[in-house]
Amino acid sequence: MNKLKEPNKVHEFDIPITMDDNTKKSFKGYRVQFNNARGPYKGGIRFHPQVDLDEVKALAFWMVIKTAVVGVPLGGGKGGVEVNPKELKETELEKISRGWVAEMADHIGPRVDVPAPDINTNPQTMEWMLDEYEKITNDTTRATFTGKPIESGGSEGREQATGQGGFYALEEIAQKLDLKPESSSIIVQGLGNVGYNFAVLAHNAGYKIVGMSDSKGAIYNAGGFDPEEIQKIKKEKGSVVDFEGVIKLTNEELLEQECDILAPAALENQLTSANAAKVKASVVLELANGPTTPKADKILWDKKIYVVPDVLANAGGVTVSYFEWDQNLKNQHWTEQEVLSKLEPIMKKAFQDIWKAHVDHNMDLRTSAFMLAVKRIISAMK
Ligand code: GLU
Repeated sequence: MNKLKEPNKVHEFDIPITMDDNTKKSFKGYRVQFNNARGPYKGGIRFHPQVDLDEVKALAFWMVIKTAVVGVPLGGGKGGVEVNPKELKETELEKISRGWVAEMADHIGPRVDVPAPDINTNPQTMEWMLDEYEKITNDTTRATFTGKPIESGGSEGREQATGQGGFYALEEIAQKLDLKPESSSIIVQGLGNVGYNFAVLAHNAGYKIVGMSDSKGAIYNAGGFDPEEIQKIKKEKGSVVDFEGVIKLTNEELLEQECDILAPAALENQLTSANAAKVKASVVLELANGPTTPKADKILWDKKIYVVPDVLANAGGVTVSYFEWDQNLKNQHWTEQEVLSKLEPIMKKAFQDIWKAHVDHNMDLRTSAFMLAVKRIISAMK
């Protein structure tokens, strides 16, 4: 258990680049390789101004737990760059992505460490990174990065996978708590890849999406939204708050609104001791990593609000990353149908295992998930 307290390896480095205006700038890059007892280190690379070593360590640890929860043969790691990508040109982001790989090329690889996208990184980022990696190493397996564009060895279904996995988790908890889609409302905080894809799936299944947000603010409408329409507005005008005729709120206010299921899909530490008591939902579905602080967790549990933990609710992404890696190594390309038909039973079994531990030991779902995962990791370490 002690071996799980600290990461195996920490990489911290500078990424110097020439900006488009010819000035030089340096960005802090990170990779934390936390644990590889169950397989190669695995986890995304985040581009965000808040990235620092403590955050990357926490995120890397959650990846160790996550891969064990879904039982894929991978370990856990995480990377990041302290940068605000919204202030940079695409050409500059490409230089940062390639610079990250130039630093890390000797420490990653198909059997060593397999990065993927996270907040503000995407298939394009992975394509730059893979290209740089191939130039440096001559590796042609394409299995060192997942979440790539399909043409570069990406998997069908990877783009929607995290939202899709979250939706399977929703179906499971809804069944346990007897929540029917037609009479259940959902608030989704965050309209990135995960929040958006989840909202579309839930909306199409008949749930009412009553609240949505992005980094600029939130909207609420008891009558419900069509997430695709909201995404269009965001793309055209810049934010969900440009959608007319509905209640405008801050992200903090959104979390306290009336709904049955609250799905934080943005950053860490959104539900805290300051606001957890005001949550009105009966389920918190953690699509983000670490959206609930430990104190908030306890408040929610005391209020009998079920928290479906991140290490389960958003594990669909890394599960399909595992499929992508596996396809690359076997030189195969599966159909989206094949991918989904493999993802669904994995998510559902992970949920059932955790639910059983919750019932057997009267523990919250996060503790149940951690208990299960730690057992698997320790047995692999032995
Ligand atoms: N960044 C995602 C996560 O936090 C995906 C990681 C991966 O696919 O390796 O789970």
